[in-house]
Amino acid sequence: MLNVSEIRKDFPILNRKVNGKPLIYFDNAATSQTPQQVIDVIVDYYSNYNANIHRGVHSLSQEATDAYEQARLKIQKHFNAKHPYEVIFTSGTTHGINLVANGFSSLLKKGDEIIVSALEHHSNIVPWQMLCERTGASLKVIPMNESGELILSKYDTLLNENTKLVFVNHISNALGTINPIETIIEKAHKVGAAILVDGAQSCPHIKPDVQKLDVDFYVCSAHKLCGPTGVGMLYGKEDWLKKLPPYQGGGEMIAEVTFEKTTYADLPHKFEAGTPNISGGIAFGAAIDYMNSIGFDNIAAYEHELLDYATQQLQQIEGLKIYGTAKEKTSVISFNVGTIHPYDVGTILDKMGIAVRTGHHCAQPIMDFYKIPGTIRASFMFYNTKEEIDTFVAALKKAIMMLS
Ligand code: PMP
Repeated sequence: MLNVSEIRKDFPILNRKVNGKPLIYFDNAATSQTPQQVIDVIVDYYSNYNANIHRGVHSLSQEATDAYEQARLKIQKHFNAKHPYEVIFTSGTTHGINLVANGFSSLLKKGDEIIVSALEHHSNIVPWQMLCERTGASLKVIPMNESGELILSKYDTLLNENTKLVFVNHISNALGTINPIETIIEKAHKVGAAILVDGAQSCPHIKPDVQKLDVDFYVCSAHKLCGPTGVGMLYGKEDWLKKLPPYQGGGEMIAEVTFEKTTYADLPHKFEAGTPNISGGIAFGAAIDYMNSIGFDNIAAYEHELLDYATQQLQQIEGLKIYGTAKEKTSVISFNVGTIHPYDVGTILDKMGIAVRTGHHCAQPIMDFYKIPGTIRASFMFYNTKEEIDTFVAALKKAIMMLS
């Protein structure tokens, strides 16, 4: 059981008012809020040991390096990577995906096939399209059904000996569907394809075990799990990371440089060119500590309660249609009301202090599937409450009256 009123005290932003009303923050799928424990770590870094890492002999540099590498170990442990050097710090999910897509440029050829799902965020579509343009490989799509679930029997028909890569998100940001990644990974491996799982939406709700999943690449962003923006991680199996060429050249990623030839540093530094987001990496570690102190099982159980409660309340509103009714779903509700434009609802809710997301959620193919321009999306985290949902539903009813 979570003590939500105690937990809420950790998040200073939850005390603020927006347009004169107490903030109700239901845009967690876009970015989560940051607890004081994580904010303190960033302030401590800049107040006490701000220095560049990995190359200084002085004390500050060593303290910063130690803290940064400690964070890598926390991330390794959390996701259960076999080795710390299989964890690459990135600027976020998008960076991790592009790093892998770029690396595969030299490994793919015309006739090769790669598979994505119909439920992807643009950041898990566009880099693969660019990869296809560079290599002549072709892109296939696992289709979805009306409930927002992937049609796995169709996935079977797409897989063959030409399939080299499969990309799928663990949870859809637009609909909240939890994809059966265990099965998807197993089937990809049966035809010898590598698989990347986009964990941007699952990392705040589910603690994945990358070894047990046997996934080749897993990417996520710290800001989705109570960490700062601008930092994330790529997990890759050692063999794959050794096979892929570096993404960017620069300092930190080299072993030796002459004008004739440069040799690259070992993992993970081969993929970490330049000065990284040092405080961000350290705070990512602190965010993982924070989430684990609450407990992922507790988080999942409570968020499910919020999801069920809000779904029941919203279903009672006439003309309201929820998109994404998968059996396995996390705390995201995407909906529209009659022909009212989502943007208008979002703007009125904001006037009442309520933050929801409106639009296509960087998932235009999903909107095209439902033949809509966008939805209103409310997404909950463990610091949200049923009382907030009541206020939101009442405000929504008011907005509908004003717009009808
Ligand atoms: N994939 C999914 C499923 C997402 O929800 C997001 C963020 N909305 C991303 C990728 C991209 O993450 P970032 O912007 O942190 O790189």
